[in-house]
Amino acid sequence: MSGEPVTGLLMWDEAVTGYDFGPSHPMDPVRLALTMGLVRAFGLDRAMRVRAAPAAGDSTLRLVHREDYVAAVREVSADPDAADGSYGLGTMDDPAFRGMHEASALIAGQSVAGAEAIWRGEAEHVVNFAGGLHHAMPGGAAGFCVYNDASLAIARLLELGAERVAYVDVDVHHGDGVQAAFWDDPRVLTVSLHEHPRTLFPQTGWPEETGGAAAEGSAVNVALPAGTGDEGWLRAFHATVPELLADFRPQVLVTQHGADTHFEDPLAHLAVSLDAQRAVQEACHGLAHTYADGRWLALGGGGYAVVDVVPRSWTHLVAIAAHRPVEPGTAIPASWRDEVYARTRQLAPGRMTDGRSPSWRDWEEGYDPADRTDQAVLATRRAVFPLRGMLT
Ligand SMILES: [Zn+2]
Ligand SMILES: [Zn+2]
Repeated sequence: MSGEPVTGLLMWDEAVTGYDFGPSHPMDPVRLALTMGLVRAFGLDRAMRVRAAPAAGDSTLRLVHREDYVAAVREVSADPDAADGSYGLGTMDDPAFRGMHEASALIAGQSVAGAEAIWRGEAEHVVNFAGGLHHAMPGGAAGFCVYNDASLAIARLLELGAERVAYVDVDVHHGDGVQAAFWDDPRVLTVSLHEHPRTLFPQTGWPEETGGAAAEGSAVNVALPAGTGDEGWLRAFHATVPELLADFRPQVLVTQHGADTHFEDPLAHLAVSLDAQRAVQEACHGLAHTYADGRWLALGGGGYAVVDVVPRSWTHLVAIAAHRPVEPGTAIPASWRDEVYARTRQLAPGRMTDGRSPSWRDWEEGYDPADRTDQAVLATRRAVFPLRGMLT
């Protein structure tokens, strides 16, 4: 197990595409298959080790989830017609399907195994783009999420002896399940940048949510106004995340890269480009090296523009973690575009860019109290930085 760690590990088991809520649900597993197809089309599956881990077992699931909830998932997994909405199962967002327990535990198993590989020094960077199911709660399904693989990976790191784990969530929705799991645990810093709860599910993630009594200042929320574009999104990220990580000094950085911040995403209202998403992925990679000795677990998350956005965004993520970044202007291989058409009858994008060159103003250069992005950043800094003994 010891020796020179190979930099990148990609967790992938084709069976994760069995996480399927049905044909009318926005979380179409084709987004995972197409992402893996694009990863292969760029040869990135040879730049990283690709590994399939077993499904998370009960003792692992119970690090975060309640026993009665896991039992309920098993029950509806065997008999989907029995789901009646209790535990969030059998709802519009989380309809029950046969094999739900197995598929959900398999995704969780990939994130947990990735965390273990990082902690043991077997890999420096690990990606599980099928993961990032951040809305699942200890006692219930929510927001397309059954088991919270992000929370489980973090809980496993703590079990292995980690004392400081940072979680940074840039999905357009608040990372509420992860925040809830570690609300009272000062060993875990959760940071979520998201569209404002006034306009988006799950209606939490206010700046004033800063952690429980035992862990004040361990939850950080940046609630951005609907319509925020590249410049504001990048400014908000850089005005909060690096300083927090510099202060917290995590041993491991776990990041969630939901691609639903994109301007084409049908379920939310930010206006972020693929190019800005890539810039944040690169920033997270750099922060992992600067503050966490390179220990980086990168997860997927939401993203419902399943042809145009998700595969390109997460292929960039894999490429960055493999230390083989794909230049934004790169043309997409015809083989993948053919695969997209065959599977979806949609035309695939032609390049790995939206043609933007996003830039942002540094917070140190000052802020404008009348600017809505700056107001959001200020609210967060004022709510949480003093609790951490940091200057606002
Ligand atoms: Zn690296
Ligand atoms: Zn989301």
